[in-house]
Amino acid sequence: MSFTVAIDGPAAAGKGTISKAVAAHFGFAHLDTGLLYRAVGARMLDGLNPVQAAETLTAEDIKRDDLRTADVAQAASKVAAVPEVRRALVDFQRAFALRAGGAVLDGRDIGTVICPEAEVKLYVTASDEIRARRRFLELTEKGQTTTLEQVLADLRERDARDQSRATAPLKPADDALVLDTSDMSIDAAVQAAIDAIARRRG
Ligand code: C5P
Repeated sequence: MSFTVAIDGPAAAGKGTISKAVAAHFGFAHLDTGLLYRAVGARMLDGLNPVQAAETLTAEDIKRDDLRTADVAQAASKVAAVPEVRRALVDFQRAFALRAGGAVLDGRDIGTVICPEAEVKLYVTASDEIRARRRFLELTEKGQTTTLEQVLADLRERDARDQSRATAPLKPADDALVLDTSDMSIDAAVQAAIDAIARRRG
């Protein structure tokens, strides 16, 4: 039996942490779909045509260790605006969503485009400043040199691109539960997600 949880929202809102915790709690498989776009973006920075990069993406590509850099994040949101790139990644995501035993997918268009039939849809968000602070700590803990102002500017640029693109723009599905994590601890946010899923599973 499949059971799909779609978790969407802007960058650094807490989707990844919530998705991993929910997957561990219910024993679901987890796919961070941002990694697919990051891998295509990284291959574009290597000089490949983005559509070709998406059409020939391999499991190795999404394991590259440079996918979490700021340059790759910006490249990802550029290739993500190309309809043919998005199209090339649809089947893999849908097959993952329908695997037996349940799946959590996090991204930007999971509840709206990839899995409109998902059993549970969450839209995780937080204020720009809070998201920038979280991402800044995450990057500096990994040894990357940046400033809070730079991270905030990058996030805003990426969100604006993700929200304004013509194909699969970032927005909550009509039937998504919106979780604003600005003033929530991570434990409280995870618990709210678990409760929403448990209610739907019965
Ligand atoms: O979630 P993450 O920050 O890793 O995503 C990187 C970029 O990939 C996003 O800014 C967005 O442009 C794109 N993306 C997307 N659709 C998804 C997941 C990510 O367009 N489902």
